[in-house]
Order: sequence, then C-alpha cells, then structure tokens
Amino acid sequence: MTELTELFSDLPDDIQTSLKELGWSTPMPVQAKAIPLMREGGDLIIQAQTGSGKTGAFGIPIAERMDVDSKAIQALVMLPTRELANQVAKEITILGKHRGVKVLAVYGGVGYGPQLEALENGVHVIVGTPGRILDHLGNGRMDLSGVKVLVLDEADEMLSLGFWPDMREIGGYLPADRDSHLFSATIPEKVRSLARFFLHDETYVALDADQNSPQQIEHFYYVVPAAEKEALLARIIEFEDPESAIIFCNTKGDVRFVTAYLQKRGFDADQISGDLTQVAREKAMNKIKAGKLRFLVATDVAARGIDISDLSHVISYSAPDSPEVYVHRTGRTGRAGKAGIAISLVSGLDIGNFRYMQTINKIKVLERKPPTETIMLGRIRERLQVKVEHEMRAVPKSEQEFGIDRLIPVIEKMADSIEGRRDLAAVCAAYLKEHRPETTVDESELEATPPDHEPSHSPRRDGDRKGRGRGRGRRRR
Ligand code: AMP
Repeated sequence: MTELTELFSDLPDDIQTSLKELGWSTPMPVQAKAIPLMREGGDLIIQAQTGSGKTGAFGIPIAERMDVDSKAIQALVMLPTRELANQVAKEITILGKHRGVKVLAVYGGVGYGPQLEALENGVHVIVGTPGRILDHLGNGRMDLSGVKVLVLDEADEMLSLGFWPDMREIGGYLPADRDSHLFSATIPEKVRSLARFFLHDETYVALDADQNSPQQIEHFYYVVPAAEKEALLARIIEFEDPESAIIFCNTKGDVRFVTAYLQKRGFDADQISGDLTQVAREKAMNKIKAGKLRFLVATDVAARGIDISDLSHVISYSAPDSPEVYVHRTGRTGRAGKAGIAISLVSGLDIGNFRYMQTINKIKVLERKPPTETIMLGRIRERLQVKVEHEMRAVPKSEQEFGIDRLIPVIEKMADSIEGRRDLAAVCAAYLKEHRPETTVDESELEATPPDHEPSHSPRRDGDRKGRGRGRGRRRR
C-alpha cells in the first residue's frame, strides 16, 4: 500500500485511506501550500492551472471539515462547466468517502429530478455552475445558510463566460461568516474585483518561482499626445484603479512634476528621486510596502537596488530608453505568483521604437484606447456598487433597503479614503450633470402651475437593485 508523506500523514485516518486508494502519496506543490492555510482558516487567492492538483488542494480540507452528523450544505464550489463539476464532485466524493461526506454536482441542461432528490435527502458539498445553483436557490430548494467554505474554481473562466451577475446574486444567499477561496489560472483586474466582492483580508498563494515569469504580466500601452500626458495619466489611473503602482519617469523633473500633479488631484502619491537621502528613500519604500502609500513616482536610477516588488501595476509615464529597462521596470509587478499589469504611456513619435523594443523582448503589448467619460463613469459605478454591496453583507436582509439612513454609514466609511471620496464625487457629478435643470423655462407653464404643486418626477435611484431576485424568491444572509 502507498506510504503517505509530509502533510498527508497528518490528515485524519479516513482521508488517508482515500488518498491511498487514489494512489496519492505526496502532496503536489499547490496542495503543499494551500492545504495548511485552508486548515487554519481565512480567505485565499490561489493562482493555479488545471492539472496542478488544485481540486485536491481544496477537496481535502473540505472533506475534512464536513460535519456529517448534520444534513446541512456546508461547502459550495462554484465553477464554469458541467464537465468540471462532474470531475470535481467525483474527486471530493472519493476523498470524503470513508467519512460519509455527500457531494452533489449541480448544473443545467439536465432534468431537475435527481438533483432535487439528492437535495431533499441532504448533501454536504455542492459543486456546480452558477446558473443552476441560482435556480435551486430561487425555488427555495437549496439552503446555503450553513456554508462554511466557498470555493470559486477557475474564477477567470467563470467571468469570461458571463457568470458574474449570477455569482453576485448567489453571494447574497451565503452567510458572511465563512472562508472563501478563489482559484484562478490568471488574476486580471476582473478577477481582483471578484475577489473584493467575495473575499476578505485574503492571502495570495503562489506556486513557485517560475510563476514570476513575464507571462504573468499583462502588458498594455496607451498612445497619448505629449500635451495631455499628465491628464491622461490621472484618467488612466482612475480607470485601471491599481491597488499600488510605481510610476516611472525618465527625468527627476518629471518625477517632481508628476508627483505634484497627482497629489494636487487627491491621489495618494509620493516620490523617490536620486536627490533624496537613502533614509528618505527607504521611508517612501517602506510606506508603499506596508500598503500605506498607493503611488510611488521614481526614476529608474532612484528605484535601482531598492526592494519594491509585489505591486499590482507598473506604469511608464515616459517610455523606457531600452528593451532592458522595460523588462527591469515591469519586473516590479507580477511577483509572488500574482499577475501584474504593466502600462506604458507612449507618445505618437515613440510608438515605433516602443513596439520594436517589445519585439526584442518577445513581449506581447496590447494597445488600449484612453477611456471615454461614459466608460469611466460605468467603471466607477461598478466599483461603487461592489463596495456598497460588500458593506451590505453584514446587514440583515430585512433592513437592506437602499434608503438614505442605511446608506449613510456606508458612505461615511467610503469617504474615509481619498479614492472613496473621488468615486463618490464622480458619481455625484454625473448625477448632477444628468439631472441639470432646463435653462429655458416656458413662462406660460409657470403660470399654469398652482403654488402648492407637487412635482411629479420619478426619482431614479442608481443604487436600486434593479431586477435583483428576478422573482427567484427571497434571499438569505
Ligand atoms: P487537477 O489539477 O485537480 O485537475 O489535478 C490533476 C491530476 O492530478 C488529477 O488527475 C488528480 O487526480 C491528480 N492528482 C492530484 N493530486 C495528486 C497527488 N497528490 N498525487 C498524485 N496525483 C494527484
């Protein structure tokens, strides 16, 4: 019989028996990293590809954690396809077999009968695609109020397939007190937004040093007229919404100018230039490392030799002088298994040279068009909604009207940060613009209006959850 090594031999006997039956003797790297963290509790983002052993990474701790004396659903695994649902359900069934864990695969395109029967008999783990899960929830046939573990598997795929609205709605049925784990092969911005909605104080789990390769970085460039560069930088930052970024300039003068420009516009920015003492540079560096500073503006020389990595974005305000400089700059993101985003602002004259450098570097750099005002506003509204809904998670369903009183504490909390204040101001500005009173008034209409006339406007509330619930029944918290 297979001899189990490392952490497998610490698992309960019944799970060890399953592992031996599967012929798994040693944890795969993703399992070695993720299983101890999951057993400890807390939220995780794990960057893992198909074939890495990720199913075992969440399947083992889920199986171990199920209370089989209870009939309640205690774990929910959401994933993109029926094939994956079957495969994952099968693996967790084997892992939990000797402990009596019941697992149900739930997906659309098949009859409801067998799924309903299993739900009535009681299952501990649901593994399914968002659409059918939501159907069962809406019909009151699935109760997720006892869920202790949520897994979002192949999260990037789920978003690509357009599952976000359903996932968000399912989020409303989950209890706030749970551990959430997100698995994804890539972590682009849309996956980060998903994480902000479902996860809290999460830890990133990277696989190995190979994951630091440039392939983990998404490269974009914007063509910007020289005269509008700083204004477009601010707009792009607002649009991309980086968690943290280093902004590279080619000269000390540009570093001073860009830092002052961003600070004046309310961004949390500081600079490091060769003029500063080592102590002052380290102070700025420590601030960004500790998450107390969002934007660090620097020249290549000033940033050399200082240990700042792990940034979500690297922005080149001035195009780099050589292909090596570009690689060096962008290597400051995408570390520790996180995907990073590298953005370059390139003026029309530099574009040929910039593209040539990336041919030498063998890097695919895609062009992005500067966001229009409408796109900007859409993005800000999306962020606002995610934040409001995140706050609402703690509020009982019965009190979840978006009335003024309920929104005040949410707004107060958002207004604590510069970014929150900017988002709120942008939404107010757009609202005021949209509802600007007519400048020309028909005087005859004024005369016809009685003094105590009540305006018959129909107020629009953008925060209203239009269509939420979609007749699918009451949601639970
Ligand atoms: P996954 O990435 O979860 O699809 O897993 C890829 C393959 O690796 C599956 O066929 C698993 O059965 C197998 N596998 C997972 N964990 C182990 C392990 N610790 N030892 C050997 N094979 C494993």
